[in-house]
Order: sequence, then C-alpha cells, then structure tokens
Amino acid sequence: MRSEELPTHVLFMRKKRFDAYQARELLRTGPGEKGLPVHLEGEEKLLGEKLMQKEAFNIVASEKISLERSVKDVRDHRCKDIIYPKNLPSASVIIIYHNEAWTPLLRTVHSVINRSPPEYLHEVILLDDFSDRPELGDKLRTYVEKTWPDGIVKMVRAQQRSGLIRARIEGAKAATGDVIVFLDSHCEAGTQWLEPILAHIQENRKTVVCPIIDAINDNTLEYSSVGGYNVGGFSWSMHFTWRDVPEREKVHRKYTDPISSPTMAGGLLALDRKFFWEIGAYDDGMDVWGGENLEISFRTWMCGGRLEFLPCSRVGHIFRSSHPYTFPGGKDTHGLNSARVAEVWMDDYKRLFYMHRHDLKNKDFGDISARVDLRKKLQCKSFKWYLDNVYPEKFVLDEGVQAYGIVKAVDSSLCLDTLSGNDKMEYDLGVYYYQRGTSTNQLFSLTQTHELRRENLCLDSSGDDGSVARMTLCFKKTPGMKWKHDVDQGTLIQEKSGKCLDRADLSSGDIVKVKPCNGGSSQKWMFESVSL
Ligand code: UDP
Ligand code: MN
Repeated sequence: MRSEELPTHVLFMRKKRFDAYQARELLRTGPGEKGLPVHLEGEEKLLGEKLMQKEAFNIVASEKISLERSVKDVRDHRCKDIIYPKNLPSASVIIIYHNEAWTPLLRTVHSVINRSPPEYLHEVILLDDFSDRPELGDKLRTYVEKTWPDGIVKMVRAQQRSGLIRARIEGAKAATGDVIVFLDSHCEAGTQWLEPILAHIQENRKTVVCPIIDAINDNTLEYSSVGGYNVGGFSWSMHFTWRDVPEREKVHRKYTDPISSPTMAGGLLALDRKFFWEIGAYDDGMDVWGGENLEISFRTWMCGGRLEFLPCSRVGHIFRSSHPYTFPGGKDTHGLNSARVAEVWMDDYKRLFYMHRHDLKNKDFGDISARVDLRKKLQCKSFKWYLDNVYPEKFVLDEGVQAYGIVKAVDSSLCLDTLSGNDKMEYDLGVYYYQRGTSTNQLFSLTQTHELRRENLCLDSSGDDGSVARMTLCFKKTPGMKWKHDVDQGTLIQEKSGKCLDRADLSSGDIVKVKPCNGGSSQKWMFESVSL
C-alpha cells in the first residue's frame, strides 16, 4: 500500500509519532545520547570485554543506551539548506540479520522509523536469516507488534540459513515500496538520511546509491562522523578498499552533489525496486558473506547503471572486527563468492585475482551459467570498459608496464621480496630466496613512469648512503619513487640520488639497502617475467 493509500488515521498516527520524536530528540538525556560514547568501569568493563569476543562488539555498553537514542547531525552545513521535493517515491527498508544482538538490531529499526518521514517510509522489513537465538523469536515479534501496532514493521523468516546475499533477495521479494534500501542490522540512521536517497533515485532511476557510512565504535558505541568522505575501490584479491576522491571528480562539483564511486562497501545501499530486479538482483549462488558488494558494483556500471555516494545522507554502522556468526562447513565464502565475480564479470582480468588466490583455481564455486546469461541478456560492457571509464586510476599489474615479475639478484639465489609486509601499510623491502613465481611476495611491476611498484605501493628511499628502501603508498608521489632499471648493467638506480639498490652482505630475510653505484655484482638485478 502506498502511503497515499493508507487509511488516514494510520498515516496520521505515524506522523504524530515522527513529529513527537523529532520534537524530543534534542532534549534527550542519558548514556550515549547525541551519539556520545559509553565508557564502562569495573566489573561491567570486564564483562563487556569478555562478551565482545562472542558478539564482536560491546553488548554491555549497548544495553546502557536507549534504543531510541539521538545522534548528532553530522552533515555538512550545506546539506541542511537543501529543500527536497515533496512527492518523493516510497521506501521499503530491508534489514537482514542472523543472530544479531537485541539492542543494535532494535536500535536500527527505531532509528529508521524515528528519522524517516512517514509519508516516504512505506515499510521496514525485518528479514530473519534463520536465527536461533531465543530472544529473536516470540519475544521480538511481541516487541515489534506492541511498539509499532500500525504494522509498519514486517517480519519475514527464512526457512533455512541462506546467507546475507540470498537473505537480501528474499527481503526484496517481500518489499512493495518504490525504492528498496538495504541496511545491516547494526546501523543508526542519521538526520534526514532518507530524503537525499529518494530524491536522487527519483531523478536517476538507474542509479544505485549509498549513504556515507559513519562509524559507530564497536566498544563505546560512539557515533562519529567520518568527516570528509572517500569513494570505494577494490584490490585484485577482491577486497573492498576506501580511496580518496579522485581529482577528476573534484572539479566542478559542489560538496552536496552525489559522487560516483567504482564500488561500494556493501551493507548500506538503495535502488529503485524494479531496477533491482531488472539488473539482476544479486547472485543467488553466493553463500553467507562476501563478494556481493563488488559484484553489484561491477554489474551496475557495466550494465548501464551508475553507483553514487550521497554526501548528505549519513548512516552509522558498527564496524566490527570479527563475525558473530558461523560459516557453515567452514567455507571461505568470501573467496568462493569472489571467484564467481571474477569468472562472470572480470573477463581476462580474473588472472589478477587468481594470482592472489592460486588455491581457488580449480575449486568448485558452483554453477555460474545463469549469471553469464544475465550478462549477455543485459548486453553489459566489458571489464576493460569498466576499468578505463569508471576506475582509470586502478593499476593493472601487468599491463602497459616495462616489466612485471620477479626481480632476481644476479649471481645469487636472492630476490626482492616484501618479506610478507602488509600491502595495506608501508614496509621496508627485503630479499629472500627465489620462490619460482609461486609467492606473490616476489612480484613487482616496473612502470612506464619508472616506479617499482606493487598494487598500491611504490619503492621509495631517502637516498642516503646505506638507507633502506621502503614500499610507500604511491599516491604520495614523492621524488624518491623514480627508479631506472639499466637493462645492460642490471642496476636499479634511484633517479633522485643516483644511488643503486644493493644486496651486499645480505642474507635471505634481510632488508635491502641503497648505496653508491659501484658496478659490482651485488647491484645487478634482472627481471624474470611472469605471465599471469
Ligand atoms: N547476515 C545474514 N546472514 C548471514 C550472514 C550475515 O543475514 O549468513 C547479516 C548480518 O546479520 C548483517 C549483514 O548480513 O546484518 C551483514 O553482515 P556483517 O555485518 O557481519 O558484515 P560486515 O558489515 O562485517 O561486512
Ligand atoms: Mn555490518
């Protein structure tokens, strides 16, 4: 039922409830109000920390906070002046959960109802993915019926554990609003979060939109603004990454404008309900968790849609460091789901995924024929088109480079090696025994612009005699990042200092040094190319 078709008294009641909350919100007092942190002490602190291992966040702190707590309006002041159209489409907010703890789950529902204008909030669908916590059964149903007797919250239960991807599909089947909004079950909607979403989808029916995701601390439940915002990227191992807004996007845009993003984080998104089905919903061959966010991102762009973040819509999410639920069969669902994404959407670029995941090469990731057919039916563009047009900054390790492969020391069994350094951070480069291309730790690109590079890290050094060479984030573009490989001499010379990369006196596992060039064999390196 559309809101205009709702019996007048129901809409009237919803409006009254909404107005009453709005009028009270700023006056509320108590632990955690305004999104402030809750700090526990003594035994409670110990209990909270202990339970953190099971729940993945501090349930004791969460229980101290009202389910209807206020949060700060963290939006930029420019958002507050926007006047949204009056005739926005209606929204079905779908919250999926499997064994989520009571307070964060209900705080999500309350925050959505308290902060969404009733004329646009068509329904909230609570999709229980076969939870077995006792309180999520009758107790939850009773709570929902008592708290929202107008039926705005609909409860649907999956008949078996379906995983978050299939749970979202089931939620969407149950929805009847114009727009569907998916949320994780530990979110808090911010001030006027819904209007920018609906207004933008109304203008651009084929746009998938995401609010800016603010952080709710997993220990103190503090709601804090992420401040400026980033867009989404991905690594070739198929993990989502945040990245700076590229310069090309910064030109000609107002702060409040939607910003296009190559990928999304996954938990919070909205799109036209019919468009969701037209563009292929989700891949129902994906289990439990992982990979679906890149799949819907690639698919949306490649099949004629857009993906955009909305700076004026903010929703908090508890980022937790582990999953409070089981992975049936102990499967690496992120890996297997990602293999499906690579096979269906990434064309030949799937080689870069398998380079990181040799182990998945001949694994059974299930039948993908329906997704391959979908891609054909929708006449989607190639992954190369996506890279060129949507994510031109993405570095392709083995394309358009001078060399890609292993950097071997001449007259030695040592090779340049990350020594298992974390590619998300920065680390000193070392040497290690030759691994015959089986270890990604020994793979480097020498780019046309003279960087010795891995996915996001480029070799840098102060250039002082005996200084270390450090894998440093490429976007810093420091003067020390240019290296010339003299193919005849074998030297790797830092252009800034004119010094050479040297392995003299080093054993496997040691950090490599920069020294004055001396023509000696400890400064000779050769690339052994590896084809992916
Ligand atoms: N979820 C689910 N079924 C599952 C796994 C997860 O319904 O088998 C729900 C979970 O309760 C949460 C959402 O999917 O609401 C996303 O999961 P999670 O928050 O653990 O992912 P993260 O935010 O850590 O990526
Ligand atoms: Mn989550």
